[in-house]
Amino acid sequence: MMDGMKLKGMLEDRGIKVSNSQLEMFEIYLKELKEWNNRFNLTALKDENEIIIKHIYDSLLIISTANWQKEAKVIDVGTGAGFPGIPLKIMNEELEITLVDSTEKKKEFLEHVIEILKLNKVTALHARAEELGRREECRENYDIAVARAVAKLPILLEYCLPLVKVGGVFIAYKGSRAVEELESAGKALQELGGKVARITEFALPENQGKRVLIEIKKESKTDKRYPRRIGVAAKRSL
Ligand code: SAH
Repeated sequence: MMDGMKLKGMLEDRGIKVSNSQLEMFEIYLKELKEWNNRFNLTALKDENEIIIKHIYDSLLIISTANWQKEAKVIDVGTGAGFPGIPLKIMNEELEITLVDSTEKKKEFLEHVIEILKLNKVTALHARAEELGRREECRENYDIAVARAVAKLPILLEYCLPLVKVGGVFIAYKGSRAVEELESAGKALQELGGKVARITEFALPENQGKRVLIEIKKESKTDKRYPRRIGVAAKRSL
């Protein structure tokens, strides 16, 4: 059994309230994650305490930042086993969220989780971010894009900013190298129409590391040239 009280306590220390039914959903999610992880490699973390802090709690840090909106249309790029998208959805019924991953197995798992948790307004897609950025129904269609542990910032900006509406934000979950990555992202920001809006640093509980959230405001439309063909952003980043 998951130590729900511990998660509840940690979140309440950050001013985030969790209901019993939400804790129950986290418990089910964790159980399924562990089960599926025996068959497919969904996450490297095996220790339950680590999963609670480094995946679930970490995913929710964004809730206390200024640019987070409860009724936004959100896209989680490179969601993997659903981080941060699924925890954010569990915390907020109104959120409309698209979870994207380029691995088919991840989508299968996500659809299973969506079904057993009876989540509404969640779509799991098997796609590459670069491809979605060129699809008319996805391009500049989201209020908020989020991404955690997917790629270096200049690459990630090319994946995510084309998907964000002008006036919306892209929020990247980064580790201790956030500042260096930001220093190398000047050209990407300029080319893609983004500007740094805020940087927030967090220490994870129990000395589990540092987390930096970088919020990028989409200030102007992204040029039609971007995102470039699949794989180009990663190979020749801006
Ligand atoms: N966000 C999750 C998973 C991180 S691992 C977490 O924090 O736990 C990175 C994931 O991004 C992998 O599942 C990989 O399949 C996916 N990914 C990498 N490049 C991608 C791209 N261009 N488009 C969509 N998904 C991508």
